[in-house]
Amino acid sequence: MEHIDTNARKRTASRSGCPCEFCQQLDPQFPGRKPMDQLVLPNRKHTAAAHLTEDGYVRHRVLELARMVSRPPGTAA
Ligand SMILES: [Zn+2]
Repeated sequence: MEHIDTNARKRTASRSGCPCEFCQQLDPQFPGRKPMDQLVLPNRKHTAAAHLTEDGYVRHRVLELARMVSRPPGTAA
């Protein structure tokens, strides 16, 4: 099981998050996502775990993996 910070998510889910910059840049489908699936917790790095929804989390992970396999090992900046 992947770890997701459910407490942090519950605390902030009702407030506004901010759109994930990582997903915004890498996901062509980003504007088509549900608004909640675009958001990450405020004051957090834009990581998969910071996403407010399961779907957002999964999409972020998929983007990360896709980026990983599209680059030769050792060149990740
Ligand atoms: Zn993201």
